[in-house]
Amino acid sequence: MDFLKKIKEYANKVNEIEYSISNNKKEFLEIYERNLALEKEIVQRTQELDQANKAFLTLKHVWELMNSSEPLSSVLQKLVNSLHGEMGYINSTILQICDDEKGKYYKIKAFSDSPIFKKLTEFLQAKNIDIHEYHLKYDAKMLITRAIEERTILHSTDYLDVITKLLYDFTPENIETITKLGVSKSVICIPLAPSNKPFGVMMVFSPREEVTDKELNFLTLFANQVEMAIIIANLFENLKKEAVTDSLTELYNRRYFNQALQKELERAQRLKQPFSIVSLDLDYLKKINDTYGHFFGDLAIRTIADILKKNARSIDVPARLGGEEFSVLLPGVDSSGAMVAAERIRAAIEAQELDTIGHITASVGVATFPEHSVKLDELLDMADQAMYKSKINGRNRVTLAKRVEDEAEWQEVAFGAFMDILTKQKVPIPDKIAKEITSKLKAIDSSTTKDTLFSVADTIAQTYNVQYKRGVTREKVSLAIELARKMELSKEDIDRLKIAMMLYDIGKLTIPEEILNKQEPLTEEEKQKIKEHPLVAARTILKPISNVADIIPIIEAHHENWDGSGYPNKLSGENIPVSSQIILLIDSYFALIQSRPYRIARTSDEAIEIIKLETGKKWNEKLVDEFVRLMDERKHSER
Ligand code: GH3
Ligand code: MG
Repeated sequence: MDFLKKIKEYANKVNEIEYSISNNKKEFLEIYERNLALEKEIVQRTQELDQANKAFLTLKHVWELMNSSEPLSSVLQKLVNSLHGEMGYINSTILQICDDEKGKYYKIKAFSDSPIFKKLTEFLQAKNIDIHEYHLKYDAKMLITRAIEERTILHSTDYLDVITKLLYDFTPENIETITKLGVSKSVICIPLAPSNKPFGVMMVFSPREEVTDKELNFLTLFANQVEMAIIIANLFENLKKEAVTDSLTELYNRRYFNQALQKELERAQRLKQPFSIVSLDLDYLKKINDTYGHFFGDLAIRTIADILKKNARSIDVPARLGGEEFSVLLPGVDSSGAMVAAERIRAAIEAQELDTIGHITASVGVATFPEHSVKLDELLDMADQAMYKSKINGRNRVTLAKRVEDEAEWQEVAFGAFMDILTKQKVPIPDKIAKEITSKLKAIDSSTTKDTLFSVADTIAQTYNVQYKRGVTREKVSLAIELARKMELSKEDIDRLKIAMMLYDIGKLTIPEEILNKQEPLTEEEKQKIKEHPLVAARTILKPISNVADIIPIIEAHHENWDGSGYPNKLSGENIPVSSQIILLIDSYFALIQSRPYRIARTSDEAIEIIKLETGKKWNEKLVDEFVRLMDERKHSER
């Protein structure tokens, strides 16, 4: 928005300049036509024009373009009209070089309002051709082509030759009819190359046989403005599109979706109305890619996009959030309405027959404000969880989010565990911190439980790891959940994993700080102490806490390696719980991207490479594959 504001300020300045320029310009033309003896002054004026005109003609039009979402062609149209009128030309036009399988041709990008173009339009209409779509002849020897190739202005009195060649499929009679409408004496071709790339030509038909240096100078300046308009307009057109839509499907992108969601939340709160989120994921896309290739994978994605667009009301916001992940925001719709809409979408996807692939299906989840949550991140999460439920229940179905109570269960267990660790167990947490945490836990209410739990876990982690950043627990848990879903763990397993994710390192509280932060190599005895921490966590700290019994084996095994080289029990392969493998991998990833007393932080990509290197040793291939894909998807959806 800052950028827009700056442009706005700039545009205001330009308006001021514009006023003085339009006066200057009139004067300039008068002087030019009246008396060449005033040459000196004209040179001066030309220089002023060079500065001021640049700002005026481009920024003013581009500013208008941005505000009215005018396409480039109408900006160019205005530009040629201003040229044609003020310089007394018979007509002016901008031609663009185009290329298709049949070769090069010229296209009329803009033309002045002159009787000639009116007639030309009529002739073309009679042939059922839109003037903007008309293919004019391209030929390397033509005057305009040479002007473009040589990047110089070319002037010729044989204007008829230029017209006849361009309108190669017109009869001589028709050409005569057209040219009779204005008496030209010569044609001037000014090449256009915005950003130094050949674009086309500006062609003006003059009532004068001669062209003076001053006129050429003016035309050069003018062409510069046209080039600038092309550059900026294209830039804005792309920016505008890219900023809100996804290029493969032209659905809204994640950024726009999130903004729309935020606005809808405010609206819904104000008007006390519901809204719903429908989350959707294409089933078995990997298989489609593998079997038929990426092209058909993309086709499947586009098909879903088209169905979402077709099924959307004008106020709905269908978006592609990343790879094969879609969401639709349904303003004002409650959960039963959203279920109907979601089912309609699901059925439409299933019914569609695709080239080569045949039929595709999608798994869908629905969550509604305020029924499922009043917080956006939770709502998105719940729609996602519901979608995931559709997946594990067999795909090609719609699932409504569960109420918050289902979330409450694991949170309650984690809450109880923290409370017990702090109040009943003998773990060396400094008193001050213990008190701070206990008061945080006591102040908990149902809407802040998750935040408080993560914050407590952050604080505890900081007591044995000074480098631990606040917020990391939340990130770790979120990554663990996504990875667990990719590994198709059940909801119960994922709930246990969430708790384990916050508690697995708790045994480190019993390791002396000197060992944890030691920069020199550890002694055997010290290494042994570190290796004991999963056991200490599991057996000493957590065992007495009754409701975490089924989490203990997961934590106990979170340093076991796939090849049996880990600790403390040298488990290997399938004997290690999948959840423990997930913890080990995510813990390693976060350790790599954080700095340690003995080394600096790695980038995410470096960390992923290091993790890949240890495939087969620390973790198995499937887990690494899913992790790499997950990180890739995250990277791509960050745009
Ligand atoms: P599931 O039914 O569990 O969703 O299986 P799936 O194979 O669709 O899902 P998974 O999440 O395991 O894999 C998603 C695949 O989608 C992996 C990725 O290569 C592919 N993918 C992501 N974005 C695109 C894209 O833009 N085009 C294509 N062709 N494939 C994509
Ligand atoms: Mg999928």
